[in-house]
Amino acid sequence: MSDIIILPEILINKIAAGEVIERPASVVRELIDNSIDAGARSITVDVLNGGKKLIRVIDDGCGMDRDDASLCFERHATSKIKSEDNLFHITTLGFRGEALASIGSVSKVTLVTSPGTSGTGTKVEIGTNTQKGITDAPPVTGTTVEIRDIFYNTPARRKFLKSTSTELSHIIESVTQKALAYPHISFSLTHNRGEIVHVTSAQSLKERFFQLYGDDFASEFSEVKREERGIKLYGFCSVPEFTRATRSYQFVFINTRPVKNPTVSHAVYSAYRDVIEKERHPAFFLFLEIDPGSVDVNVHPAKREVRFESSEEVHRIVSQGIKDVLHTQPRKDSEYEQSREAVGVEAERTWQNDYQSTQEVRETLESAIQTTGGFEKGFFNDTIAPALHKYFHIGEAFVADITGNGLMIVDRHAAHERILYEKLLSKTRLEVENLLLPIRVELPAKEYSVIMNNKKLLKDFGIDLDDFGANSV
Ligand code: ADP
Ligand code: MG
Repeated sequence: MSDIIILPEILINKIAAGEVIERPASVVRELIDNSIDAGARSITVDVLNGGKKLIRVIDDGCGMDRDDASLCFERHATSKIKSEDNLFHITTLGFRGEALASIGSVSKVTLVTSPGTSGTGTKVEIGTNTQKGITDAPPVTGTTVEIRDIFYNTPARRKFLKSTSTELSHIIESVTQKALAYPHISFSLTHNRGEIVHVTSAQSLKERFFQLYGDDFASEFSEVKREERGIKLYGFCSVPEFTRATRSYQFVFINTRPVKNPTVSHAVYSAYRDVIEKERHPAFFLFLEIDPGSVDVNVHPAKREVRFESSEEVHRIVSQGIKDVLHTQPRKDSEYEQSREAVGVEAERTWQNDYQSTQEVRETLESAIQTTGGFEKGFFNDTIAPALHKYFHIGEAFVADITGNGLMIVDRHAAHERILYEKLLSKTRLEVENLLLPIRVELPAKEYSVIMNNKKLLKDFGIDLDDFGANSV
């Protein structure tokens, strides 16, 4: 008796869906891709409860006639490639014909579409047990797709869905990435009916970048531009002073497709190597345009990775393109950095006195301890300051002491920051003084949503903020 069976279609689709649809944001991304491929000029995304309850994408693209609408949920149903030859010159975002089939196998879907305003439109409904129903709909040019109860029939996957705010932040990221890659298309995103992203058609990437991220954030970036051997690189990279603790805000688009690409990332880091500290990260939004024939996009089911024909060339162009920018921009040293540098020089001079031995250092320190005064009032908190009293001052920036067989040097500024940090953690003795005039800060949509969701927590830490709308607080 044979043990092997051919899996039923429904199960095959569910397995495929596992690769394509990871979370609500993957649905948003696939639907936006379809709208872009359909030539939409305006795309609206509405979600409820982080997309777990509802995702709706409305476009004004070319729409579908009844035949296409009936077919589009079938596996491997696509209008974008017709032959093997096409596969190696992909110019559309979709081509695998898998997204709608996958979405239909793990959620309840309603699609309403019409290729024009005459005749009748079509409504396709995929309900429980992936039953399909087709009925008439009003002829409104374009397509609207509604997804309800994602993973309702795959409890194992539903369990992996994260909190509403986490799922929402992934959705914001998907929409923002698409909006960056297609500046001329208008995008709107609402969550539980509140507006999160709203950008009208822009003339350039730069305009779109400022629309999406706001002046405060966007002005920390320099424009990158380089073209060589048919490869075009453009976008934005952060100035050396604007570094981050994590790899957030690192986006790479290959032929408008957002991807993760180790070659490009490595090239960027190599360009920044000498200008930023080792444990800090640059932020960048980089676009590469390459002949579709020299990049393979069919290497990842969710199309998140690509393979280059010549990665050395890409590496060189990216690294050079960024170096050009970093080395032509004057470093805008803050006042603090300048004074700190001056203090450092001073501290070094103090140590130029050529101490011969540890013993000598100890004696010098001990005698110095008798003569040095206290700290500026209020600089260190009361518990630490008395303990620091016996320390030896080196210039303005450092204090030193002998510990066991070693020498301990404390950076006063860093220590001060640490004390503030500990105070914040313990939330004790936090003195809050209201600003005479509030400061208005414009934020990227994702940070805005995180901040609005944590208003109470921030208030506990002494930061009181109000919603000014349009991503500003
Ligand atoms: P793919 O995008 O890889 O072709 P999909 O499953 O995402 O596969 O979509 C299947 C087909 O349905 C597309 O090739 C396209 O012809 C049609 N389609 C899907 N969404 C839209 C839309 N918003 N507007 C017009 N046609 C669409
Ligand atoms: Mg698609």
